[in-house]
Amino acid sequence: MQAFDETFDFVVVGSGGGSMCGGLFMRASGRSVVILEKTSLVGGTTARSGGVMWIPNNPFMRRDGVEDSPEKASAYLDAVVGDAEDAPGTTPARRRTYVAEAPRMVAFLLSQGIKLTRVKSWPDYYDEREGGTEAGRTVVAELFDVNELGPWKEKLRPGFVTYAASLEELMQLPTYKQAWSGKFLMLKVMLRTVVSRLAGKRLVSAGAALQGQMLRAALKTGIDIRTESPVRELVVENGVVTGVLTVKDGRPWAIGAQLGVLVNAGGFARNQAMRDKYQPGTSVLWTNAAEGDTGEMIEEMMRHGAAIGQMEEMVGYQSTLAPGTENNDVKPPAQSLTAAPHAILVDQSGVRYMNEGGSYMEYCRKMLARNKTVPAVPSWAIFDAAFLRNYMLAGTMPGSKKPDSWRAQNYLREAATVGELAALLDIDPATLTATVARFNGFVARNCDEDFGRGARAYDRWLGDPYHRPSETLGTIAEAPFYAVPVVPGDVSTYGGVVTDENARVLREDGSIIQGLYATGTSTASVMGRAYPGAGSSVGPAFTWGFVAAQHAARANAR
Ligand SMILES: Cc1cc2nc3c(=O)[nH]c(=O)nc-3n(C[C@H](O)[C@H](O)[C@H](O)COP(=O)(O)OP(=O)(O)OC[C@H]3O[C@@H](n4cnc5c(N)ncnc54)[C@H](O)[C@@H]3O)c2cc1C
Repeated sequence: MQAFDETFDFVVVGSGGGSMCGGLFMRASGRSVVILEKTSLVGGTTARSGGVMWIPNNPFMRRDGVEDSPEKASAYLDAVVGDAEDAPGTTPARRRTYVAEAPRMVAFLLSQGIKLTRVKSWPDYYDEREGGTEAGRTVVAELFDVNELGPWKEKLRPGFVTYAASLEELMQLPTYKQAWSGKFLMLKVMLRTVVSRLAGKRLVSAGAALQGQMLRAALKTGIDIRTESPVRELVVENGVVTGVLTVKDGRPWAIGAQLGVLVNAGGFARNQAMRDKYQPGTSVLWTNAAEGDTGEMIEEMMRHGAAIGQMEEMVGYQSTLAPGTENNDVKPPAQSLTAAPHAILVDQSGVRYMNEGGSYMEYCRKMLARNKTVPAVPSWAIFDAAFLRNYMLAGTMPGSKKPDSWRAQNYLREAATVGELAALLDIDPATLTATVARFNGFVARNCDEDFGRGARAYDRWLGDPYHRPSETLGTIAEAPFYAVPVVPGDVSTYGGVVTDENARVLREDGSIIQGLYATGTSTASVMGRAYPGAGSSVGPAFTWGFVAAQHAARANAR
C-alpha cells in the first residue's frame, strides 16, 4: 500500500479550465480538492486563449432569441464530426452527453458567479451543414479585473489581449479604416483602458478573464491550488488510481485521492519528440500553446494502459512569422490575412489549393497534406497594395509603415508585377500570373469556382464586413504586389487518451481505469477530427471536467 503524505477527495493534475470547473463542482458538493500545476502560473493555454467555449443550446442564445435545441446541435455534430474507427474520442454517446452537459456546465458556472455572455455573431465553421447556425454557439467571459485576485494576481497566466477590450470588440477594431463605428470603437476601447487603469483596475479579457474568474471562484470556495507542483506519476493500486506523486518544497510528495484523479494537463504541442512521432512535419516553433504543454501526463496514462486516439490531430492555426515574432507567446495569425479581400494562398509552385476561409484546423491540415505532393510548408500569402492599405498584416495596423527588418530579412517580398513577385519567390512567373488572373476572374463573377470561398457564412465573417459585393473576394490587381510566408502553426494538439461519456479513461479493450478521469487536450477530442466552431477545445475541456466531477461525486456518494 502506498503511504500518502496527505489525502484529498479529488486530485486534479493541471490548471486548465476543466480542472477548476470540476473542482468547483466538487467543492459545491462539500468535497476537498487540490489542483497541482506544474508551472509557476495558473490557467494553462486556456488563460492565453480567446476563452471561447462552443456551447450548443446555451442560455445566452435563449436570452437573445437564437434558435437551438439538443436535437439540432446533435444533428450538427453528427454531420460535421460523425463516427470513424480512427477517432475513438467521439461516439454518439459522448456527443449526446456533450450536448446535454455543456449548457448545464454553463448554468453551473453562472451560479458560481462567473460572468459570461455570448458573441453576437460567430458562425459555426460548417454553418451550411444540417443543424449549423450562422449566429454561432459561442460563450465568452466578461472583462475581469485581475486585482480582484489579490496576492494571486501575478500567478494568473497572462492573456494575449493588451487592451481592455472584449474579444468581440477586438475583432471589430481593424475596421476603423472602413467605418465610423470602427473609429468610435477604437476611441471607446482606448478610453476604457486609460480610465480603468487610472481607477486602479487591470482589466483583462478573453481566456485570461475566463481563467481569472475561475481562479477567483476556486480560491473563494477553498480549492487548494499549488503551482510548481508537477505530477510525475500516478499511483495505481490493484488496477485503481488512488493518488499521484508530485513534489512539495523540493521533496517528493504523495497525495491520495479518495474519489478520483482528474488529468487536465494539456497536450503535447511543446514536445518535439512526440510531434515527430505523431505529427511529423509540424514544429514546436510554430505553436501558440503555453510552455507546460509537454505531454508527459498522456505518456504516464499510457504507461498504465490507457488507450490513445487522434494523436495526429492538432488545432492548426496558420501563422506568419515576421522577424522578431518567432519567440512571441502568440505568433502573428494568418487567418484573416488570406481570407481577406485582395489575398490568396499559394504553394511553392504558385498554385492555389484551398478555400482560404473556413476552419483553421482544416486549413493547416490541407497545408500539410499538400506538402506531401508539392512543397507547401511554408506556403505564400499573395496580396496587393489594396490589401496592405486596408487590413492588418502580422499584427501591424492597416496602412502602417512596416518594420525595415521585414524587407531586409526577406520576410515581406515586394514587386511591381505579379510575374516579378513570382521570380522573387522562385516560382514560375507564368504559373503565379495565371493563378492570380484566374482568381481575379472569380472575383469578377463573385464566385470562387475552384474552392467555393465565400459560400460559407464563416468565410465571409473572416473577411471585411464592408467590402462589396463579397466580404472575402477582392482582386489582386493594384501594384505593388506582395508575399509573406505562412506556416501550419497550432493552438494545441487534439489527441490523447480515450475517455467514455463519464470522462473516465479507457483501456484498449474498452475497460475502465478505475479512479482516473481526463479532460481537455490530454484526451482524444469529442469533436473527433473536426473543429465544429469557435471554442471547440475550451468548451469540451470545461464540460468534461464538470462531467468527471459529477461522476466521481455520484459514484462515491456519501
Ligand atoms: C492564442 C490562443 C487562442 C485560443 N483560443 C481558443 C478559443 O477561444 N477557444 C478554444 O476552444 N480554444 C482556443 N485555443 C486553444 C485552447 O486554448 C487549448 O486547446 C485549451 O486551452 C487547452 O486546454 P486544456 O485544459 O487541455 O489545457 P491547458 O489550459 O493548457 O491546461 C493544462 C495545464 O496543465 C499543466 N500541466 C501539464 N503537465 C503537468 C503535470 N505533469 N503536472 C501538473 N501540471 C501539468 C500545464 O502547465 C497547464 O497549465 C486557443 C489557444 C491559443 C494559444
